[in-house]
Amino acid sequence: MRALLINPNIHDFAAYDFWLKPLGILYVGAFLKRLGFEVHLIDTLNRHDKDLKRFVKVPKDKKYGTGKFPSRVIEKPKVVKNIPRKFKEYGAPPEYLEWKMKEIGNVDIVMVTSTMTYWYHGVWETIRRIKKITDSPVILGGIYTQIIPQHAKKSPADFVFPTNRLELLPKFLNDILNLHLKDIDIDWFEDLDPAYELYKSIGYLVFTSSIGCPFRCTYCITPRMWKFKRRTPEKVVESILRYKDIFDVRDIVFFDDAFLVGKGHTVKLLKLIKNERIKTRFHLPNGIHARLIDEEIAYLLKEANFKTIYLGYETSGELQEKTGGKVFDKDLIRAVEFLKNAGFTKDEIRAYVLVNLPGQKLQDAIRAVEFLKELDIGISVNEYTPIPGTPEWNELIKNGKIAPDIDPLLLDNSILPYWWNGGMSKEEVEYVKSIVRS
Ligand code: SF4
Repeated sequence: MRALLINPNIHDFAAYDFWLKPLGILYVGAFLKRLGFEVHLIDTLNRHDKDLKRFVKVPKDKKYGTGKFPSRVIEKPKVVKNIPRKFKEYGAPPEYLEWKMKEIGNVDIVMVTSTMTYWYHGVWETIRRIKKITDSPVILGGIYTQIIPQHAKKSPADFVFPTNRLELLPKFLNDILNLHLKDIDIDWFEDLDPAYELYKSIGYLVFTSSIGCPFRCTYCITPRMWKFKRRTPEKVVESILRYKDIFDVRDIVFFDDAFLVGKGHTVKLLKLIKNERIKTRFHLPNGIHARLIDEEIAYLLKEANFKTIYLGYETSGELQEKTGGKVFDKDLIRAVEFLKNAGFTKDEIRAYVLVNLPGQKLQDAIRAVEFLKELDIGISVNEYTPIPGTPEWNELIKNGKIAPDIDPLLLDNSILPYWWNGGMSKEEVEYVKSIVRS
């Protein structure tokens, strides 16, 4: 049996390759291989694919392998017609997809992944293109299908696999394709590596040493999707070494949501990385827990050659407590002190500020930015996105601030302030950003 996995294009008003790799579908690839499938991958968002240059001009890398996607302006969907910004398709052009699919040839199934709910437009369009090229059944999976399965079922895909429980895949495929695949007795997160060998060329590697998060911030979907779990540190390092040998990358990224939770694991992992003398830079872009940074962790991060440390700060004021109490000002002060003492520069440490959180006053956001400026570290503004299934979302629905059947495109954080009167205005968000820049 032959399977083709596809990471679809993004349609949005803005998108940037901030170490985006489709880990979910890479794990599906590894799982399918265990089931005996021959697996192929088309990642329309892999800017480092050498073949891509034949179809489109690819913007040069910015820092540490990140960079702009190739893009083209496309027609705005009706629901966002009035947003005064350009709507674009990001990633490989349609001709690339067609060429790649023809090169790979006939397959028995095509599996398409998805992430953000408000990126469904690009997912649907990619599926339409796929269906013009092949008659093979197209199965849609990924985070979007897990968050709003009813919406995903309206997509042009033939089937939807709306779960992250890979152990259900054999039965699902047996049912839809009339196969006789046997269950395989593995713990996929512990036993499998994300199947990077499906790539020909790649600019950086992304791993996760844990899934889920034991905190329960009211605006976050992670703890509602996953039970928190860590992978054995030795296996994480084996996985890094395996792919580091195949691809000559200089940057390795951990996309964990809770990299520091479970200190024993973290210390072991960092010591193993240090002892292996892996000659790459490491990055933590996902907002680590400031409260869990101590002197030992800070020194180990430095010795293991971490170059990017993002701290989750989000907001100042009473909302820190109300949204789950994951971090308080004093935690940030301590963490930054430990990191700077260990040798990290102010350019290597950044903190996220979440703007437009329901109930957040403009003053809270301004105070958050000013607080971080006093700490003398970098600041990244994250605009709030209402995510179905979170307590914050349920409140918004209950209070009539958002319609339950809203088109997910409108939930895109980059356009929310243009139309939503449940939060900050566009001018207020811009004002916060201008303070960050000033
Ligand atoms: S700590 Fe981060 S990952 Fe965990 S629930 Fe809060 S926002 Fe989500």
